[in-house]
Amino acid sequence: MLNLAKRPPLVLKLGTSVLTDGTRKLARRSILEIVRQVAHLHDQGQPVVVVSSGAIAAGREALAYPALDRSLPGKQMLSAVGQGRLFQIYTELFGIFGITVGQVLLTRGDLNNRVGYLNARDTLQTLLAYRVVPIINENDTVATEEIRVGDNDNLSALVANLIDAELLILLTDQLGLFDADPRTHPDATLIPYVERIDERIWALAGGTTSGLGTGGMITKLQAAQLATRSGTTTVIAAGKLPNALIEIAAGKRIGTTFATQTSRRESRKRWVLAEKPIGELVVDDGAAQRLRENGASLLAVGVRAVRGSFERGAPVQVADLTNRLIAVGIVSYGSAEISQLLGVHSTKIANVLGYSYGEEIIHRNDLVLVP
Ligand code: GLU
Repeated sequence: MLNLAKRPPLVLKLGTSVLTDGTRKLARRSILEIVRQVAHLHDQGQPVVVVSSGAIAAGREALAYPALDRSLPGKQMLSAVGQGRLFQIYTELFGIFGITVGQVLLTRGDLNNRVGYLNARDTLQTLLAYRVVPIINENDTVATEEIRVGDNDNLSALVANLIDAELLILLTDQLGLFDADPRTHPDATLIPYVERIDERIWALAGGTTSGLGTGGMITKLQAAQLATRSGTTTVIAAGKLPNALIEIAAGKRIGTTFATQTSRRESRKRWVLAEKPIGELVVDDGAAQRLRENGASLLAVGVRAVRGSFERGAPVQVADLTNRLIAVGIVSYGSAEISQLLGVHSTKIANVLGYSYGEEIIHRNDLVLVP
């Protein structure tokens, strides 16, 4: 079976301004410097997921800066031209360190949909289990206004939530959040730590934009809010500082750190409990005991009956043979599949179904015990 990465992953978001070093071209040297740091963390066993902008900038460079209007199809065209080139650079630069990268393109639509959410999560976790560094960007080519995240700051926070990241680092061309705009107020000072993102903090971000990228300080704060609410500590720092990434990952205060507003566990619990269960699984005494006492995952071997009709990703109740409610969880398999898997050993799932979404019917991370 897979040797799933045990350390909670770290999400690193690289803005266009970091990748171009403020120029009109992708700056390989600056990218290499960051890749070197990611490789260092990776070699220490720290799983890292990269969310990278830069596709549009790469496309613009490849087409020699065409005069385009600001319409979405124009940007999508640039992104389509640039994404492959951007990924090629990562492939080469990570290759120097013997690291394989995997390209993941997502939209908000994929993550809002439960099956899409689970599929994206499982793919990312499998990439990490195989020690591949995922390089994520928004799937600009297919993203229409309704399903776009629109900026990679917010996308990186959604990804952090998706994979239960401990830390989200947004590297940008600014040192962090200041108590006034440093470009107009030379005496502005950096705010090293934000306990809560309140009105005062929002006001500080007003109107800050950073050159070529989509996001300014506002979208970074939105990302910090989203991530810290799901239990991920968030740091905004300058990509240019030597060893910034390694030092932040080691716990050194660089840039602005945003405190978590809840634990990751609490946040997952809320996620699981957010929806009304639409089905039920009845489990045998052994499974009931393992769930109650060890907080184990629910395996097919202990499931006796399925009630209701539901898809993979649905919230369901888990009850024991006396009909007592044990837990609520998000299933990795739909009701039709589970009906075929009753009492089946986890290693035999693929033999029965012809495919497998993993060994668990409900993974322990997606299970909340009912007292
Ligand atoms: N997806 C866009 C790109 O790769 C960037 C979006 C952003 O900068 O936030 O160019």
